[in-house]
Amino acid sequence: MKRPAIEIPEVLTNCLSQGQSEANADKREARVLLHACCAPCSSAIVEWMVNHGLQPHIYYYNPNIFPLEEYNIRKLESKRHAESLGLSWTDGDYNHDLWHRRVCLNQETTEHQMENEPERGRRCQQCFNMRMLAAALKAKELGITVFATTLASSRWKSIEQINHAGIDAQNQVPGTLFWAQNWRKGGLYERRNQLLKEYNFYNQQYCGCEYSRKKEE
Ligand code: SF4
Repeated sequence: MKRPAIEIPEVLTNCLSQGQSEANADKREARVLLHACCAPCSSAIVEWMVNHGLQPHIYYYNPNIFPLEEYNIRKLESKRHAESLGLSWTDGDYNHDLWHRRVCLNQETTEHQMENEPERGRRCQQCFNMRMLAAALKAKELGITVFATTLASSRWKSIEQINHAGIDAQNQVPGTLFWAQNWRKGGLYERRNQLLKEYNFYNQQYCGCEYSRKKEE
């Protein structure tokens, strides 16, 4: 039998089936913490989750984005999207200096800088590691088991790097589970592009950090 393009983790399917069969269904909420990199990449994933009975909680944590003005535009678009659907939304900290120290410094030698790494290289791996660890910690704080990321909807990013970061974060934060999923499948990439127009979202022209911006200039 052909496997579905998007597979819901067992812990969530259990919540969904128990919720349907019990009077106190609200006690069996199938919640997911969805780390959102931006509103366009979130749109089709959120729609899919809601249509399948899941309750995404949007977590906006992207200290990689530079400059601050760009960060604020993307953040407010994510908030506008969540509010339009009545979804809960949490604002993560913005500390670009900390991001720089954690991501652009080689963690082994603490000397070599990562500025000249290509996209999909070591800098991006550390960038995903930092954001996924924050997502796992926020999920734990909110009492949500499963976390996922909209980063995995972009064809420009390495799904292997994202999954590596998510699983590593899950292993560091007991009681959490990373939903490793290619969110470009099942028609979601095409739907993302439709929703981008429908919501008239701001559509950024570079990944986020100053090094990815330079590349596009
Ligand atoms: S290019 Fe994107 S993923 Fe890579 S370090 Fe910069 S912001 Fe992070």
